[in-house]
Amino acid sequence: MKVSAEILSLVPYKPGKPISEVQREYGLSEVIKLASNENPLGPSPKALQAIHKSLTEQHRYPDPSCYDLIQKIATKWNVPATQVGIGNGSNEIIDLLIRIFCEPGDSILTTEAAFVAYKVCAQAARVKIRTVPLRPDLTMDLKAIADDFYRNPSSKTQLIFIPNPNNPTGTAVGGGEMEEFLTRLGNRDDVLLVFDEAYTEYVRDPNFKAASSFYNKYSNVIVIKTFSKVYGLAGLRLGAMLAPEFVLELYNRVRNPFNVNELAQVAGIAALDDVEYMQASQKSVWEGLDYFYKELTRLKLPYFKSEANFVLFDTQRNAELCFKNLLAKGIILRPVGNYGFPTYLRMTVGQKDENQKAIAAIEKMLSEVPKN
Ligand SMILES: *Cc1c(COP(=O)(O)O)cnc(C)c1O
Repeated sequence: MKVSAEILSLVPYKPGKPISEVQREYGLSEVIKLASNENPLGPSPKALQAIHKSLTEQHRYPDPSCYDLIQKIATKWNVPATQVGIGNGSNEIIDLLIRIFCEPGDSILTTEAAFVAYKVCAQAARVKIRTVPLRPDLTMDLKAIADDFYRNPSSKTQLIFIPNPNNPTGTAVGGGEMEEFLTRLGNRDDVLLVFDEAYTEYVRDPNFKAASSFYNKYSNVIVIKTFSKVYGLAGLRLGAMLAPEFVLELYNRVRNPFNVNELAQVAGIAALDDVEYMQASQKSVWEGLDYFYKELTRLKLPYFKSEANFVLFDTQRNAELCFKNLLAKGIILRPVGNYGFPTYLRMTVGQKDENQKAIAAIEKMLSEVPKN
C-alpha cells in the first residue's frame, strides 16, 4: 500500500504514563500522577450528579447538536449560540480546524515549544508547521509571529495557533502584546487566529487578557476552551470553541454527528454551573504553585513562573533519567525533551499531600541522578 511520507514519519502523541501501568511495572501500590495537568480534586460533584442521572439513558444516541450545552455556554460566555462549537476534547477541534482550512502544502504558524497537538494534527493532514522562537523567558513572541506571517506569503499560512498560557512552558502573553498582534492581523479574511485557552482560569498575571474579551471586535478570531483542566472532565473528552458563524457552519459539516457523548454534555453543563468547585480548583492550584516555587528554590532548581496548573523546572540533569528515577518512587512527572527541554520536567499541581510527596521524591532523586 502507498502511504505518504508525512504519515510514515508521524510520531504518536506521548500521553502522561497511566497510573495503572506504573503500578504494574514497578510493583507499587501508591502512585501519584502529576503528568497530564488534570484537576486533582476529581470531577465537580454537580457534574457527577448529572452523569449519574443520565446513566439510564445511555442506550440512546446523544444530542448531535449539543443544544443544551451550547445554550449554557452562550449564556455563560456571553456570545451568540450560533458562534459556539463543541468537540471531543479541544484536540478534535484543533484537528478539524486544520482539516477544514488547510490543504496539503499550506501551513499553520505557531511558536516553538507550543502544545504538541498542533504539530501532530498538521502533519497527519500533510500540512506544514512553521514556528518562531520563544523569548529567553519562554514567553511567546507574537510580534515575531506576525512578522513571519507577512514575510512569508509563499508559505500559505491559513491558521495561527496561540496557546495562551502555553503548555509546557506555563507562560502567558500580556494584553498589550495581544492587542498589537490583533491590530496587525485581526479582521483579515485570509488567516484565522486561534487562541487556545486551556488554562486562563488559573492566570494570576494582572497584565493578562483572555482572547474572549477581544473576540467581538474581530471577524477572524477563534477561542478554544477545554473541560479537561479547571472543569475536571478530562476523561469524558469535551472541548468548546467560540468562532465566527462561517467557521461553525463548516465545522458542523465535517465533524462526526455524534462526536460528543451524552455524559460529557450533561457533565459539561453542570460543571459550568459549579462555581464553588471552580473556585476551589483555582485556590488549590495557586497554593500548590506557591508551594512548588518555595521548594524548588530551596532545592536550587530553576523554574519558570507559571500561569497554568503546572510548573516547568530544570533538573540540571538528564531529565529522562530523573523521570525514571521518580517513576520507581511512584511519582509520574512529564519529561519534555520532545519540546526541546532535555533537562526539564513538567510537574502538575496535585493535592497538597501529593505535592509534598513529589517534592520529597525529587529531593531524594537529586542525590541519586548525577548532575550534568
Ligand atoms: C490540556 C490542553 C488542552 C486540552 O485538550 P483536550 O483535548 O481538551 O483534553 C488544550 N490545549 C492545551 C494547550 C492544553 O495544554
